[in-house]
Amino acid sequence: MPDAAAHLPFFYGSISRAEAEEYLKLAGMADGLFLLRQCLRSLGGYVLSLVHDLRFHHYPIERQLNGTYAIAGGKAHCGPAELCEFYSRDADGLCCTLRKPCNRPSGLEPQAGVFDSLRETMVRDYVRQTWKLEGEALEQAIISQAPQVEKLIATTAHERMPWYHNAISRDEAERMLFSGSQPDGKFLLRPRKEQGTYALSLIYGKTVYHYLITQDKAGKYCIPEGTKFDTLWQLVEYLKLKADGLIYCLKESCPNASVPTGTAAPTLPAHPSMPRRIDTLNSDGYTPEPGEAGEKSRILPMDTSVYESPYSDPEELKDKKLFLKRENLMMDEVELGSGNFGCVRKGVYKMRKKQIDVAIKVLKSGNEKAEKEEMMKEAQIMHQLDNPYIVRIIGVCRAEALMLVMEMALGGPLHKFLSSKKEEIPVSNVVELMHQVSMGMKYLEEKNFVHRDLAARNVLLVNQHYAKISDFGLSKALGADDSYYTARSAGKWPLKWYAPECINFRKFSSRSDVWSYGITMWEAFTYGQKPYKKMKGPEVISFVEQGKRLERPTDCPPEMYTLMNDCWIYKWEDRPDFSMVETRIRTYYYSIASKADLATSPVQGAEAACA
Ligand code: ADP
Ligand code: MG
Repeated sequence: MPDAAAHLPFFYGSISRAEAEEYLKLAGMADGLFLLRQCLRSLGGYVLSLVHDLRFHHYPIERQLNGTYAIAGGKAHCGPAELCEFYSRDADGLCCTLRKPCNRPSGLEPQAGVFDSLRETMVRDYVRQTWKLEGEALEQAIISQAPQVEKLIATTAHERMPWYHNAISRDEAERMLFSGSQPDGKFLLRPRKEQGTYALSLIYGKTVYHYLITQDKAGKYCIPEGTKFDTLWQLVEYLKLKADGLIYCLKESCPNASVPTGTAAPTLPAHPSMPRRIDTLNSDGYTPEPGEAGEKSRILPMDTSVYESPYSDPEELKDKKLFLKRENLMMDEVELGSGNFGCVRKGVYKMRKKQIDVAIKVLKSGNEKAEKEEMMKEAQIMHQLDNPYIVRIIGVCRAEALMLVMEMALGGPLHKFLSSKKEEIPVSNVVELMHQVSMGMKYLEEKNFVHRDLAARNVLLVNQHYAKISDFGLSKALGADDSYYTARSAGKWPLKWYAPECINFRKFSSRSDVWSYGITMWEAFTYGQKPYKKMKGPEVISFVEQGKRLERPTDCPPEMYTLMNDCWIYKWEDRPDFSMVETRIRTYYYSIASKADLATSPVQGAEAACA
């Protein structure tokens, strides 16, 4: 995730206070000269370094619980840029207004933080090792879950640092520090018996000093009376720059033999408290974290059994055929849903090594040949698709009826889920789900398929944080050189979801799916309302032709309403494609996901300035 200040020319990234002062000196020390840098002790915080009367002033900017930014005692602002903008107009307690940005010398990029530089590799390695994913499944997992994974890593990263020694005693720590060379500042960090406390052991003048690290009520780490930090690795990085009460700065780490040294990303063992590969999920998609009663830990899509195809196992792949044997299929009486074709039933399909829960679309008996053909077409389309955000087909079974066997998505259709759980589901959750839908649609677009029936009713949930696109009954594979499909005649069409060119010229493309995606977004952000309420088809058509569009749902973030409206650009050539839609919703999702994470993470108290 890019830093919220990355685009500012006066942002230097993760530099120390002394370095900041050097840059300001070089730039002439004029009154009001300022720069912005990353705060080394709070996740997502900054420091504003400002010159007045030939002296330096450093103001920490805290990221607050609600995602806003503020200097202690000052007004809150929605981003670091807006904050600087404000203080350039009004000193509001600072020594003076911000007058002249001290821009980075040309060619100098903001200094990546310790964590920033490792972040991408860490996320990748973490996802790869934790969920044993490779290739496309790995890429999709990184894109869709980066904020959640980054948070997991941020709070456990110290376990992979060379200076972290798990389960060693004070005596052992001393022995380790005394073995080999004993330069001042050689250090290690170890957990103490008392839960949640740590010890920092540091050598200076051939003596080892042990400092207690405790966590306050909000979960912040500090050496009593010292500066507080969100994570242990930040505490260590900070104490490398500044002794801050220690006898000496931290210098060289006393390496833990089990952690590889060097600058490459450390290898990341699976997070011990994370459940992996859960086949039966609570309907809300949460499971309590062991040892943390009441604490809720989210199940990520990769934790479920439907993230990858059951045929991703080479052993199972040997048996992969479109037609399934009836004896391997057990059908339940339970109906999951119904439609014109018949009903969808719950079932279990027996594979070589495992049994999987399935949803079985059963064609009504006595149906015409045409219907059978239609269902076979739907099966053929689904058979060519394999993506975590699309309901996969397991196969077709010809027995007492024609049956289409699919992965199970127990949460049901998106609109029903949202309308029944309105109070419990924050907007960020809706954005997360719609981002997943955009990923599935981007995949379809790349494969040159048009869905033609994208709507909230056809987005099924695996759990509260995992959506899949379903119902390929109207879908078409486009020819290699075609960008649209022309329907021979109009049929029973979901007109409220259709773009003008579908209705006027029967032309269907990924861009007309984008229009439907906009309507689906609207359904999602209204928590399952019906679009164009009581209007009938022809009324909707003239409403749209007049340039009118659905209104902004209450509480819908403006960024999301703008995106919806772009999906409803009249001319299909001017509409964004799914690649653009996905990028835009991803950017917004990441920006609010990090804020939502902060809101559930330990409280950030207002502390004394200590940059
Ligand atoms: P139709 O073509 O009639 O719209 P759908 O494929 O949309 O048929 O399925 C109808 C209903 O059946 C869905 O709304 C849903 O409730 C249920 N259903 C369909 N597929 C699944 C599935 N894979 N997992 C769980 N429920 C499903
Ligand atoms: Mg449907």
